[in-house]
Parts: sequence; C-alpha cells; structure tokens
Amino acid sequence: MDRVELRDDLPTPELLRPDDVRIRVRAAALNHLELFVVAGLPGVTITPPWVLGADATGIIDAIGDSVTTLAVGDSVVVNPGLSDRTCEYCRAGEQPLCPRFGILGEHHPGTLAEYIVVPAANVRTIPASVSAEQAAAFTLVTLTAWRMVVSRARVQAGENVLIWGIGGGVALAALQICKQLGARVWAVSGSDDKLRRAAAVGADELLDRNKVDVPRLIRDRTARRGMDVVVDNVGQATWDQSLRSLGKRGRLVSCGATSGPIVQMDARKLFWYQWNIMGSTMGNDAEFDAVVGELRAGKLLPVIDSVHPLAEGRAAFERLQSGEQFGKVVVRVS
Ligand SMILES: [Zn+2]
Repeated sequence: MDRVELRDDLPTPELLRPDDVRIRVRAAALNHLELFVVAGLPGVTITPPWVLGADATGIIDAIGDSVTTLAVGDSVVVNPGLSDRTCEYCRAGEQPLCPRFGILGEHHPGTLAEYIVVPAANVRTIPASVSAEQAAAFTLVTLTAWRMVVSRARVQAGENVLIWGIGGGVALAALQICKQLGARVWAVSGSDDKLRRAAAVGADELLDRNKVDVPRLIRDRTARRGMDVVVDNVGQATWDQSLRSLGKRGRLVSCGATSGPIVQMDARKLFWYQWNIMGSTMGNDAEFDAVVGELRAGKLLPVIDSVHPLAEGRAAFERLQSGEQFGKVVVRVS
C-alpha cells in the first residue's frame, strides 16, 4: 500500500483513435481487483507511475471524429472491460471472452484520475438524477453480478441462492439482483454487523460462518435439499462448503477467488448430483445496456461504504484492504 500515492505530474490523456472519448472524471470507485494490482498479478506487468481504478463516472470533454452516439457535456458511466471488437467472440457479442480483453486499471490506464480516454463503445449516458457516487460505484460490481446471476446461473423466482462474503460489492449487487428476481437469498459473513446490514438490503437468511457449520445448517433448514445456486467469489476457503451446500442440479458460479485460487472437487459428486460449475467475468455489451437501464430507472443502486476525496486516495485503499467495508469505497475526483 506504500506504493499508492497521489501524483500531480501526469499528462492529461489525449484521444488516440477516432472512436475514443475523453471523460472529465467526477468520481471513481475501488474494487478488490486494485488490491491484486498493487500486490502484483502474475502475467500483468505494471510500470509505475500506473493509474489504478476500473470504475468511473464523469462528463464527456472531447470526442473522436467517428463518435456519433455521445456528445461533449454528456454525463456518463464506463464499462471497464475493453476488447478488440473484431474477434469471433466480440462479433458474437461476448466481449469478455475476447483474447485481447483487458480491464481499466489492470491492463489499461485506470480511472482514479482527472481525465480518462476510453472507446465510445464502453460509455453510456446516465440522467443527472443519479449521484456521482452511486454512478461511480455501480458499474463493475453490478455488471459482474448481473452476468453471474442472470446470464450464467439464470436464477429463477423462488430459488434458494447462497452468497458468500456479503459486504463485498459483487456479493451485494448479486443479493440485490436475486431479490429483484424473486429468489430467496442466504447471506454469509463472519461479521454480525454485516449480516444485520445485509438483512436491510433484503437477505432472507443470515449465516455467521464463525458460529455455524454453513452446509450443515443449510441441509437442516432445507429438509436436506440444499441450494439451487451458490455465488462463490472467495475460492479456496469456501469452495468445499459451497459444494456441500449445493443441491441436486445445483449451479455454482464464481467470478473471483479472493482467498486463493486452487480448489478441489470430487468428480463423482459432480456427475451424480448433476451440478453445473460456472465461471463468469465482467459483462458483455448487452449486459452493460441492461444494467445501465436499471441505473437509469433508479434500480439496483449500489450500497456505498464511504466516500474519500482524491487527495486522500490512500485512505480509500486502506479502507478496502481492511475488509471491514460494507459496500463500495468511492473516490470523489471533482
Ligand atoms: Zn475480441
């Protein structure tokens, strides 16, 4: 974390391609991803000074010659996932599968800056009624959770969904989406305070992982049926419990492994119980349009933990690293 500092000597980025836009950033938000970038990711070489941050909202300040869908002065949010838009996956509308897929702040300069330059295809307008803090906190977690819950796991009304690590941004967005779909959500945390707050967001069942055996309690309370869906972004520390919580025909969906990447599975249970184990990363253009539609309608508004001025950006990172946050850590830029 000592490597995170505020720099006032970086040049204002210029438009590189005719389909680029430049955004004057009003607010940005942190994601767990940034902690990995700061700590060092295998295969990702960061050369300081490197601008962190994937999420941003702001006002368009310049547009390239071929941009027709956006205008200077528009209030916008950004899809942090960049793709080449030419490969077979991109042409099929599945941009997160692009071989050249990259994320702002990890593979491209990030959003914790006064100005960012991104392709117009990654930008959508939002109404002035959405606050800068909410808009900044919204995109990455809601887009990621939407793809997991709606497109991949296809959660249905009345289904039981277990969500680990409630308090994290993706987990909270998944909770909100599941409730909107009419599912029953079982939220897990090691913190009483986070569980109480999850109940206020809509969680139906609250499980303190330090006090109960999660899979056993689920078996008891569901007459041994188990969960229809498990959302597990924790990985190594929870994987076995996730599988023991999963019912027949259950779906496990993962978009992260914050506790460690290596997991084990008994293949006999996989085929006998006819499970589906699914991965998910970020979201495609159609999913981005869908979540921006929710934001424009004032739905799925993100839970915000704290807002920090850019000058105190280090404090925002320390808050994220503490693991004590409930919801998004936002940085106010201008
Ligand atoms: Zn592609």
